[in-house]
Amino acid sequence: MANGHDDFSDILESQAGIFGSSEQGLEPALKQFETTRSVATREGVVTEIPCRDCGGPAIITIEYPELMAIMQNVPPAEAYQGTSLAQSEWRFSKTHGQWYPVVPCLRCRKPIQPLVSHEEAAALLGKAKRNGWLPPQLEQQCHQRVMAAGMRRQAAGR
Ligand SMILES: [Zn+2]
Repeated sequence: MANGHDDFSDILESQAGIFGSSEQGLEPALKQFETTRSVATREGVVTEIPCRDCGGPAIITIEYPELMAIMQNVPPAEAYQGTSLAQSEWRFSKTHGQWYPVVPCLRCRKPIQPLVSHEEAAALLGKAKRNGWLPPQLEQQCHQRVMAAGMRRQAAGR
């Protein structure tokens, strides 16, 4: 990359990023950001997205429990109340039928909307499980929280 973001290149591996072509089902993801770079790590999916207004970078880490919530159409903040994950703000784009985390451009602070499709979330979770990044016990805990939050949403008519 011409303008280089050295801090990010450290974590980029030679393996295809999450939105690369090596994983089936990832193709629809983040299509609108042609120069998006991502890498799946133990901690989550780290993605660098260029701002459409100023070209500056936005860097986000999406953790696997967040993807589990998105898979069930539950905002992570509702599923993981009282944990650090509750701080992440996700919104649903009715236009695209997809969720996105609210993340500001590091340079101009304008919001960037990296849409995450269900197919993509499913593929990422599959990869995380294969790599042992989402231990069964954690997955079970997250599953229960997500389901409980889903029922609360349903009861509230959302
Ligand atoms: Zn910007």
